[in-house]
Amino acid sequence: MKAAIVGANKKVEIVEKELRPLKANEALLKMECCGVCHTDLHVKNGDFGDVTGRVLGHEGIGRVIAVGEDVTSLKVGDRSSVAWMFESCGKCEYCVNGQETLCRSVKNAGYTVDGGMAEECIVTADYAVKVPDGLGSAEASSITCAGVTTYKAIKESNIKPGQWIAIYGLGGLGNLALQYAKKVFNAKVIGIDINDLQLDFAKEFGADLVINPAKEDAAKKIQELTGGAHAAVVTAVSKAAFNSAIDCVRAGGTIVAVGLPSESMDLNIPRLVLDGIKVVGSLVGTRTDLAEAFQFGAEGLVVPKVHMRPVEDVNDIFDEMMDGKIKGRMVIDFCDKH
Ligand code: NAD
Ligand code: ZN
Ligand code: ZN
Repeated sequence: MKAAIVGANKKVEIVEKELRPLKANEALLKMECCGVCHTDLHVKNGDFGDVTGRVLGHEGIGRVIAVGEDVTSLKVGDRSSVAWMFESCGKCEYCVNGQETLCRSVKNAGYTVDGGMAEECIVTADYAVKVPDGLGSAEASSITCAGVTTYKAIKESNIKPGQWIAIYGLGGLGNLALQYAKKVFNAKVIGIDINDLQLDFAKEFGADLVINPAKEDAAKKIQELTGGAHAAVVTAVSKAAFNSAIDCVRAGGTIVAVGLPSESMDLNIPRLVLDGIKVVGSLVGTRTDLAEAFQFGAEGLVVPKVHMRPVEDVNDIFDEMMDGKIKGRMVIDFCDKH
């Protein structure tokens, strides 16, 4: 089968690969599509260590074509996801208290185990979340990482209906953060991006306010116009965005860190203490978070904007991502027509 793997010189290679036989508790998916996340860009560039040879992809959607022994949660014909949260131990304190993404022996698709950017993929059946009817596979792929991550981040922000939330970065994650914040959490949304194209796109999706921090001081403007946001979610891959997020919230505000620039942020201690600011990191979402995020997509509240591309375009897609040219999500199409 064809697979997109981490190759030499920060390039992705398309190779022919043979999958091993299925073990107990596993299912084999014939992949329909797989979204391209900025995390894949970090992985193929070696930002999180060298994983040469690994099959990329953690926004995969496929149909079950075989199941191993003892599988009860999936059957042949089901549609299922391949997510970053690929498998955890199921026994540790994190796994039993609803924080399974923090399990110290977690496996991550497209990073520590082979992922879904391939014609076929083996998943651990109990950890592969089913896609509900009524949600297209391409849209589901985008929710499998971008959607669940931002849905969970907004949960972590504790935003309440009618409150202001600032979304820094309106790319693959950010445009879904905007939609979950508005349509599911009923918040007022400020969209912030250095690229005007993304701001126009955010307006189409109902942003209440948009700001380009390359042209004006986003935090200052948010403080002036709203009295300070109640929360901020930072998906931008930029230290400047994290610093601005700290400055844009009102006293008691929460900053949820999602983007992964390889840098440290500045955090003024008196600002943190005297204004009771909370800064929290948020990592993808649990299986339950993903099932919830899918359901809002199936109900039409959140509509991922996706563009189908052949797997041969994968390196071009990463170039476009680096240049900030992507509106919504690029999704690799593995259906037979390609
Ligand atoms: P993307 O490239 O699609 O979008 C990033 C957006 O940020 C772009 O629109 C870009 O113009 C904008 N941007 C860049 N600098 C900015 C600045 N200074 N201020 C405001 N906006 C700015 O990327 P994506 O797929 O949405 O991923 C974003 C980040 O989130 C990546 O670092 C990725 O690894 C990370 N991520 C984290 C998790 C998690 O669980 N925490 C999950 C998925 C992705
Ligand atoms: Zn991702
Ligand atoms: Zn565990």
